[in-house]
Amino acid sequence: MATAEHDYYELLGVPRDADDAEIKKAFRRLARRLHPDVSEEPDAEARFREISEAYEVLSNAETRQLYDRFGHAGLRSGGFTPTHFDMGSLGDLFAAFFGDDLFGVGARGGRARGADVAAEVAIELVDAARGTKVTVPFETAVSCATCGGDGVKPGTQPIQCDRCGGSGRLQQVSRSLFGEFIRTSACPQCGGRGQVIEHPCETCNGAGRTLEARKLDVDIPAGIHDGQRIRISGEGHAGALGGRAGDAYVLIRVRPDERFVREGNDIFSQVDLTIVEAALGATVGVETLDGSVELTFDPGTQPGDVRVLRGKGMPVLQGFGRGDQRVLVNVTVPRRLTDEQRRLLEEFDRASDADTYRRDEGFFDKLKSAFR
Ligand SMILES: [Zn+2]
Ligand SMILES: [Zn+2]
Repeated sequence: MATAEHDYYELLGVPRDADDAEIKKAFRRLARRLHPDVSEEPDAEARFREISEAYEVLSNAETRQLYDRFGHAGLRSGGFTPTHFDMGSLGDLFAAFFGDDLFGVGARGGRARGADVAAEVAIELVDAARGTKVTVPFETAVSCATCGGDGVKPGTQPIQCDRCGGSGRLQQVSRSLFGEFIRTSACPQCGGRGQVIEHPCETCNGAGRTLEARKLDVDIPAGIHDGQRIRISGEGHAGALGGRAGDAYVLIRVRPDERFVREGNDIFSQVDLTIVEAALGATVGVETLDGSVELTFDPGTQPGDVRVLRGKGMPVLQGFGRGDQRVLVNVTVPRRLTDEQRRLLEEFDRASDADTYRRDEGFFDKLKSAFR
């Protein structure tokens, strides 16, 4: 017994006066982590055997008392030998002793929950801003309409399984760290149903489920972000033999809108003013998520100026209010001039001086106002 000298309380991480419930809880927590089926750690099996041995000793009043008074030597002289158990049976043991399914084995007795289904839809940014409803096609397994889900051809009866005598379960007695233990497992011949179908339903070939193309109306809340998923519970594949249906997951993609850049709940956009509009001031149409609005720009508007439209951004998902829209001013400079235009600009330049281009607001003040 290579692990004999490790302190059992330390192995389980419980104080010496821990009660049965604490010991059980500690073992369960460690077992979950260290079972070789789930642990990546190289020494998981050895450590799992150690904690199992610790649990075996401490969960029994007699062996615990012996250990508390005389340590490992006391156990040996008392004739204790740890159980050599089969690792594979641990899932069943846990189901029996802790009333749950430790490793997610699931589906005991064949009442399996249906699988989840997933689909993806792409929506426009403006629809993401308003919230929208989409119809999503799914192919899901549904309970067979011909046989009602039991897989039996209508008018015929299934016969009792001769292997398990109709109970659906097979029992087997084995020795384990918990003492003598009766293992129950689903009967492989009938899959836990207790009955064998002689005449399977012709529609579903006895599976009890058929694939059906369905359409689900999905409400997409305002403010949803690209990459978020919506879960519609109970709309996945039908479960086997009356098991619960799985869920449907819809992955939402929000298509990029070339007019806007989204950052969180804020929207950035750009407006082009000609040099004349920027210099003289102008009222121009600016695109927002709610449509075009007229914005008036003062004379002397500069490239890089930012106009903040409060509350014109994206709605806060499942919250209140909306982000802002920040409109960045771009000033377009003529690329081709006629002789007349060139003459006018030259004349304008001759009439200009340093005051014409004087800055009112400091550059850094403007930066600050842009990122406020
Ligand atoms: Zn059927
Ligand atoms: Zn059977």
